[in-house]
Amino acid sequence: MRIATSEALYRRACQLMPAGVNSPVRAFRAVGGTPIFYRQGQGSRFTDVDGNTFVDYVMSWGPLILGHAHPEVVEAVKKAAERGLSFGAPCEAEVALAEKVVASYPGCELVRFVSSGTEAVMAAIRVARGFTGRPRILKFEGCYHGHSDSLLVKAGSGLATFGTPSSGGVPAALAELTVVVPLDDEQALEEAFARYGSELACAIIEPIPANAGLLLQRREFLARLADLCRASGALLIFDEVISGFRVARGGAAQVFGITPDLATFGKVIGGGMPVGAFGGRRDIMEQVAPLGSVYQAGTLSGNPVAMAAGLATLQVLEREAGWEKLERLGQELELALLPILSGRGQLVRLGSIFWLYLDTASPAPRRFDAIAPHAAERYRALHRALLERGVYLAPSAYEVGFLSLAHTSDDLAFTAQALQQALAEVYW
Ligand code: PLP
Repeated sequence: MRIATSEALYRRACQLMPAGVNSPVRAFRAVGGTPIFYRQGQGSRFTDVDGNTFVDYVMSWGPLILGHAHPEVVEAVKKAAERGLSFGAPCEAEVALAEKVVASYPGCELVRFVSSGTEAVMAAIRVARGFTGRPRILKFEGCYHGHSDSLLVKAGSGLATFGTPSSGGVPAALAELTVVVPLDDEQALEEAFARYGSELACAIIEPIPANAGLLLQRREFLARLADLCRASGALLIFDEVISGFRVARGGAAQVFGITPDLATFGKVIGGGMPVGAFGGRRDIMEQVAPLGSVYQAGTLSGNPVAMAAGLATLQVLEREAGWEKLERLGQELELALLPILSGRGQLVRLGSIFWLYLDTASPAPRRFDAIAPHAAERYRALHRALLERGVYLAPSAYEVGFLSLAHTSDDLAFTAQALQQALAEVYW
């Protein structure tokens, strides 16, 4: 594969931006080699700046549930752009998208739009602290909630610990307010609530944790978390930035039949444009300024072009029974890949989210520390071999893959063939 143009662009980029990128994982550090520069995407595939074509399973890290450049989304964006790129004032599209969110998501009575998932989570945490008047928050090891200070925290050893920052620039005093517990462990959870419950403003979880592989949780674990929150007066926040509008119209809340107090959204809700949102119970959301004392604002929030992209995306998903189709496509992916992976790896999947876990010694992990370290080494080699064959998986073993409505049976067959060849080339 010739990637001379990507290499030249990357050299230029590295002179100008940290590691040449605007988000760390794009730098390919986890898999090695030069990042591929996209030129154009269409449907399930994209062409890079050297003219190579790939089946794309990253899909912009989740937003492109309809595939690249879906005609209806592009048309909606064009029309909106012609009417004005930004107003910084109310517009009809934000009302229409808010109606969709409120009608779709369990327990969501009021919603506010922001411009990213990080912003949505940051604001939801502030609302929880404002509503409860409590300082601490609880999160789970392996769950990612964006890059705001309080959430860039991981656990030390032990069951429930005070957090220590996992990023430079996060004050220890702030990280100490974040209690971190392992996933899939009721006992650790109960101990954490016994110790800190009365100080907790909220517990936040990715109900379908998809940022350290795909760590599928048992419903009983999520239900126990909801019970402990209710009993202690802490709010339950579902971070549905990945799962919202992807696994079902009502996200993981619908899948598990558990309604959180607040939820955060991003990715699919913007259809590829910068949109995030947080919403939930009316009395809680009434804390948000100017109704209440919790300040939150944004110059580009509710941007008309971004709202149009989100709205068009959700309309197509609904009209085409998208969630059912994506589940069928996921099953097809499993059928195509599982026989090839046999003895070499596992395909963990929920709907259109999947994770290639290259270990077979134990069942698919449900918690971060159960992920076999050698799986990442194996992934590194396989990633390169698949790239050479026109299959673009996320450049990190800990990232999941996404199917879109644009992926076809041909794409899956192509991927299966590439995987077979790639596995014949890499050894473990
Ligand atoms: N929450 C979850 C579950 C995410 O997966 C992400 C990003 O991947 C975020 C929050 C942050 O969203 P953004 O990257 O739009 O700031």
